Amino acid sequence: MSVHPRLRRLFAADGACFDVAIDHGFFNEASFLAGIEDIGAAVTTIVDAAPDAIQLTVGQAHHLQDRPGAHKPALVLRTDVANVYGKTLPNPVFSQLIADPVEQAVRLDAACVVVNLFLIPKQATLYHQCLANIAALKSLGVEWILSVSAVGSLREDYAPLHLVIPDQLVDRTKCRPNSFFADGMVAHVSFADPFCSATSDLLEAAIRDLGDIPYHRGGVYVCIEGPQFSTKAESRLYRQWGCDIIGMTALPEAKLAREAEICYATIACVTDYDVWHASEEAVSLELVVANLTRNVANAQRILRAVAARLPADRADATCDCSSALANALITDPSYITADLRKKYALLLGKYL
Ligand SMILES: [Zn+2]
Repeated sequence: MSVHPRLRRLFAADGACFDVAIDHGFFNEASFLAGIEDIGAAVTTIVDAAPDAIQLTVGQAHHLQDRPGAHKPALVLRTDVANVYGKTLPNPVFSQLIADPVEQAVRLDAACVVVNLFLIPKQATLYHQCLANIAALKSLGVEWILSVSAVGSLREDYAPLHLVIPDQLVDRTKCRPNSFFADGMVAHVSFADPFCSATSDLLEAAIRDLGDIPYHRGGVYVCIEGPQFSTKAESRLYRQWGCDIIGMTALPEAKLAREAEICYATIACVTDYDVWHASEEAVSLELVVANLTRNVANAQRILRAVAARLPADRADATCDCSSALANALITDPSYITADLRKKYALLLGKYL
């Protein structure tokens, strides 16, 4: 059965999707807790504002789905459970994948599911849980990841509000776990071409067909750790290295996707000229957010177009992502214990 009719419910007639998440309880931000104690009333308020979609948990979804009428926001089902809301902030925070998330989503008539990747200071365990949740969803047949990120430009002709489909990465992250392999299991996947070229082709075709968005195919994306923006010296250095755009996302996602044999491609939305440009104003959060908002609408139109172009059968894809681990395992199979086989069955089951 095609997934496209279900996904189309996410989008308004103009191709945009305004999705409101009212399921959040943590982020170390106390003010986020106010006003959502009564989730039923909160859902009513949001429905009255008529967004295209509302993100809720399994326990909250009935507040939306029990409402009569066909014209209501689509349900985006959150696939994890986390800390219960309360007057004081929970610590530590957690994110646990629900059982059978896709089956539950179908049962609740959700338009799609969403998985969170929380990166909260001093909550390393939470981050690891999120990675495990993403890995678990892999077992449900996730084959493509299309990511959208805001980047600074390191070259004149990649101007603000242009889109870039990058084809190379330089990893300048410092403290992000970037592999599923540990505990004596050693695998080296090929990462010479870090983005899936076939999926990038689909992104380019969709942008070209839309016809009204300036874009560039190819570019070196330098991924920095952040959260601070780069210094002028770093920005000049990255330009000398041949980097074209700079951002804080794409890694470790691209590496983990390759290890999970998932196709991964990125639409990078240029928001600014970073800090190297002499005549442009230096990057500020205000500028990034203003341009990001304008880019988001374009990104949504592109994702909608690409979703309709993904091959129904991955065997029809022209890339090698689905067999990235075929020759990557270094550990001698005779040293792989039963426990390790069980632990890595999801990634390596078809090879061991
Ligand atoms: Zn691929």
